[in-house]
Amino acid sequence: MTDSRFVSGKNGSIRRADRTFSDIFGDNWKKEEDKNMVHFVGAGPGAPDLITLRGMKLLAAADMIIYAGSLVNPELLSYAGKEAKILDSAKMTLEEVIKVICEAHAAGLEVVRLHTGDPCLYGAVREQMDLLLEKNIPFDSCPGVSSFCGAASALNLEYTLPGISQTVILTRMEGRTPVPEKEDIRLLAGHQATMVIFLSAHRADKLSARLIEGGYHPDTPAAVVYKATWEEERKYLCTVGTLAETMRKNEITHTALLIIGDVVKTSSYERSKLYDPTFTTGYRKGKEKAE
Ligand code: SAH
Repeated sequence: MTDSRFVSGKNGSIRRADRTFSDIFGDNWKKEEDKNMVHFVGAGPGAPDLITLRGMKLLAAADMIIYAGSLVNPELLSYAGKEAKILDSAKMTLEEVIKVICEAHAAGLEVVRLHTGDPCLYGAVREQMDLLLEKNIPFDSCPGVSSFCGAASALNLEYTLPGISQTVILTRMEGRTPVPEKEDIRLLAGHQATMVIFLSAHRADKLSARLIEGGYHPDTPAAVVYKATWEEERKYLCTVGTLAETMRKNEITHTALLIIGDVVKTSSYERSKLYDPTFTTGYRKGKEKAE
């Protein structure tokens, strides 16, 4: 990066915005107790305005930002302060990340470790936290909008339709990272619950075969969402049987979620009890008969 005020984004270089945080949040948006800490922050699924307000404030206050460049939208870095040092962890090992954090902490700096979606899913955060604990470096976490929520919004889906599925299984196919045998897709498929499958776009053939072996009918509705909430977002409706072909035809091999289950398409769900006119809740007395 030649000029630290510029970061590269999909529209070319983006000038970091002049800070307006004091205008919006008053003079106390930088918290004293946050200084010299590490904040694990969820960047959201892609769109720069899908980070939380807290995450945005932490980015603006940070002296150093280490972001997961393989998936985090670089446009989010436009929220960084002008002086902040920015590093892309896609080119670093765990040890290198921790070393940089230790040095920053020793210099009294506030660090943001920016992870895609919500850091709690496939974020490789625990291994960082354990090393920070060992080194007595204080840290906290700020949640983000996970891509599985971003994908639901892209499709206007409700994953938990009454009478169809009340469970969402978030999982993945094994890759270089193994998956415990008891979590084999074939076993999970037996539940016929809504499934959202991460990190498996390049193995759609095998995934589809295992879903069918596990009990899904090949005609079960499925969806593929590529880069949910990014400008490049693409989405396809298909079936468990045509999943691999759909991905091949549209050349999707990464940064996609595969959503499986009747909730993708059905219109024969039951209405919720919560909003049923005849149902009494703690907030509303039900009428005897629906009008
Ligand atoms: N912590 C992240 C997941 C990281 S694992 C989260 O909460 O979303 C990386 C995988 O997440 C990718 O291989 C892809 O399957 C999925 N993913 C991340 N961002 C995505 C997006 N915007 N659209 C679709 N899939 C995405």
